[in-house]
Amino acid sequence: MVSERFRCPHCGVSLTKSPMAHILGQAHSYVVFSSRRTVTCPGCGGAIDAKRMIDGEYDEKEPVSSGCGILVAIAVIVAILAWIFG
Ligand SMILES: [Zn+2]
Repeated sequence: MVSERFRCPHCGVSLTKSPMAHILGQAHSYVVFSSRRTVTCPGCGGAIDAKRMIDGEYDEKEPVSSGCGILVAIAVIVAILAWIFG
C-alpha cells in the first residue's frame, strides 16, 4: 500500500500525489517514468523529485511496501560493506 499523500522535502507542506503518480507507485513501474522529472511544490515553489515522490520517499506514512523495504535494506548493507572494505 502506497500513501496517497506526501510531504514537500523543502517546506514540509502536505501534498497529494497525482492519480497517475499514485498508480505508477502502486504498480512499482516508476522505472519507466522519467527519472529526471520534477514537480513544483505549490507551497514553496521548490522542485520535488517525481521519482522519489512516487517511490514513497516523501510519504507522510512509513512506506510498508516490502519490495521497497528489501531494496533499501540491500542498498544499506551494500553501502556499509563498501564503507568497511572500501
Ligand atoms: Zn514546498
